[in-house]
Amino acid sequence: RDYYVGVDLGGTKMLAALISGDGSIIAKEEIPTLAQQGEAAVLDRLGSLIEGLLATAPGGRGVLRGIGVATAGTLDTANGVVTFATNLGWRDVAVAAVLTDRFGCAVRLENDASAAAVGEWLAGAGEGAPDCVFVTISTGIGGGIISGGRLIAGTNHNAGELGHISIDGNGPLCPCGNVGCLELYASGTAIGRRGADYVRRAGEGAAGALVRLAGGDPNRVDARLVAAAAAEGDAAASGILREAGRALGIGLVSILHLLNPQVVILGGGASHIGEPLLGPMREIVEERCLPSIRGPVRFAASALGSSAGAVGAALLMSQSR
Ligand code: BGC
Ligand code: ZN
Repeated sequence: RDYYVGVDLGGTKMLAALISGDGSIIAKEEIPTLAQQGEAAVLDRLGSLIEGLLATAPGGRGVLRGIGVATAGTLDTANGVVTFATNLGWRDVAVAAVLTDRFGCAVRLENDASAAAVGEWLAGAGEGAPDCVFVTISTGIGGGIISGGRLIAGTNHNAGELGHISIDGNGPLCPCGNVGCLELYASGTAIGRRGADYVRRAGEGAAGALVRLAGGDPNRVDARLVAAAAAEGDAAASGILREAGRALGIGLVSILHLLNPQVVILGGGASHIGEPLLGPMREIVEERCLPSIRGPVRFAASALGSSAGAVGAALLMSQSR
């Protein structure tokens, strides 16, 4: 049997999975990315993670047919280089070369969200729908577009950067160079940052679950904590999630108008916040989307969860052989 390794290299964590040719997961493991340690250290730890997986593979390392790597940011897919990844702090990192040297097999790079779109489309919540859009709400916001039954790659494989659609032409500067990007308002990072700002302003002794759960320390606030506070009825936390959800809705209306998909798949850690975030998103879509485009759209939660990118990257690797 042939096996592939699929990797999802994200801003916060990296996941590697041993995957068979039909996309089923045999084994997987996840560790923190620790991007601050620098690219060489990250790639070294990724190599060890893959080695650990291969040690458990029936047939060992010899069954490995290729490694598919899903990674945040823009890529030079032809040369296997991550050209610009704000969430990793990477510029021109030759990921494929490092892994090919170490494992002696073909390595194929794909954007994390585009890979996840392929994974969900072929083996998850897309159920083979020929027109589906995958949106990941994580450290950043990413997108993958399946249209007319194929992945929209663009001229150099960087299509689908949905998180860098501007929803405010006078908004703050994004590390990508644009202003008012959707991910500045609605990513997990953005939600956490807003929560931290609130705790800083409110001060240590202030009432409310958000300040209490953070122990008064803004540095302890992340999206998960904001969601937990909202679940306890904290008005400030609920407001932060509602605003983020509305921002998502505003971005989504443009995406729907552009692509007219039948399924929108929502993934990424912050998508698990669920209704407090996604309710306001759907309201904006209901209010503002052209009826004939809004009509057929179904929203679905990611079925593959944090494995979607790894599965998609491995499937793309297997198809490119
Ligand atoms: C990056 C995308 C990525 C997304 C999710 C964004 O900041 O530009 O390439 O898909 O984050 O990781
Ligand atoms: Zn941007």
